[in-house]
Amino acid sequence: MNAAHTDIAILGGGLAGGLVALALARWRPDLSVMLFERETALGGNHVWSFFATDLSPDGEALIAPLVDATWTGYDVHFPAYARTLMTPYRATTSHRLDRALRQALPADAIVTGVQVTDCTATTVTLGDGRNFTAGAVIDARGTHDLSSLTGGWQKFLGQRLKLARPHQLKRPIVMDATVEQVDGYRFVYCLPFARDEVFVEDTYYADDPKLDRDALAQRIAAYARAKGWDVLGVMAEEHGVLPVVAGGDFDRLRATAGHGAALAGARAGLFHPLTSYSLPDALRFALALVRWPGLGVSDLAEFSEKYALNHWNTAWYYRKLTALLFAAAQPGDRYRVMQRFYRLDPRLIERFYAGESSAMDKLRILVGRPPVPIGAALGVLTGLGSQPGLLNPVVVG
Ligand SMILES: Cc1cc2nc3c(=O)[nH]c(=O)nc-3n(C[C@H](O)[C@H](O)[C@H](O)COP(=O)(O)OP(=O)(O)OC[C@H]3O[C@@H](n4cnc5c(N)ncnc54)[C@H](O)[C@@H]3O)c2cc1C
Repeated sequence: MNAAHTDIAILGGGLAGGLVALALARWRPDLSVMLFERETALGGNHVWSFFATDLSPDGEALIAPLVDATWTGYDVHFPAYARTLMTPYRATTSHRLDRALRQALPADAIVTGVQVTDCTATTVTLGDGRNFTAGAVIDARGTHDLSSLTGGWQKFLGQRLKLARPHQLKRPIVMDATVEQVDGYRFVYCLPFARDEVFVEDTYYADDPKLDRDALAQRIAAYARAKGWDVLGVMAEEHGVLPVVAGGDFDRLRATAGHGAALAGARAGLFHPLTSYSLPDALRFALALVRWPGLGVSDLAEFSEKYALNHWNTAWYYRKLTALLFAAAQPGDRYRVMQRFYRLDPRLIERFYAGESSAMDKLRILVGRPPVPIGAALGVLTGLGSQPGLLNPVVVG
């Protein structure tokens, strides 16, 4: 029997694969698309947040059906001060991504509940023995082997809490670093979804990827008690252990995922080195792809490699900042780096999160008395100081 054929095969129906599929359906309906996901639902189990200023108008339009909540600003709390920033903030959910994809693609274009076991630049093999051919294959199966990177970890447990009474939060708290500083830089993140529903995430910038779920759940409960919230139950829970990148070997990162297919999303290294967030980059990549004149006729793998290399090169500054956070600051003092950062101009902060800092921003972030020992900071910035250790290899998929 002949293998079924599609113009574009997307492996992994998570954030990046899903956004590429939505962008193709919207702007390149002339191309047939197939999306392969090992789980039965698309998108996993996530709340993905972002600042409205991270996105272009086309990016906003593409993500609009995924948005579950919008806020006109957010707060940060540090031991030395609290501040409200009027940058709009948004949250999307996996559930909405699943729904948007099933509306945008024909039913037989989505294959779920079966693992991709092998692929090349133009072929896909599934665990149930089915084979497909494609004009191009895009591998968006999420984080792969991180052994080529150095840095630390951002790890967290998030719970959506149902409360007996309104929480009284006016807007999200993107960082509450007034909590006890343990296991590196610790902060709590709160998204008020409804008057009596709040998503609370206990987060750490840590050297060690080990996540003690029960300890974090207890700290979330303690945080809720301290806020005076009477918790009726946990409606949903998610956790993450994400790489925070201080350095690495781009060629090796690509080679470990190497089977000739184009790469997208976290698998391609398309995320912010310091926040590990990937939504803005996933959107930008999807938009760049559908605008690329060669799509459908030229080598997509080469396009994706050039795109990822450019991202890696332009992100050098954020890797230096990660190194500053992890190597120059003692774990218990890491909060001082963010405390200083959040005193800066709101536009600079917006460009930082979007991964679009200007040359002046880069200088501005570093000038002045550093919140870490000056010798250690200079060592890191000149490349002479101690570097953070290797990320423990994480091999997924
Ligand atoms: C809990 C959590 C919360 C996060 N919150 C944010 C946030 O608020 N904002 C933000 O910008 N970033 C956030 N991130 C970071 C990052 O954006 C996400 O990890 C994002 O999902 C990465 O997108 P991706 O498409 O590369 O990978 P994924 O979304 O993980 O998608 C990969 C998909 O491939 C599938 N897959 C894997 N192997 C196979 C296989 N062999 N065959 C078929 N399918 C396969 C997986 O099941 C998955 O659905 C968060 C991460 C986590 C873990």
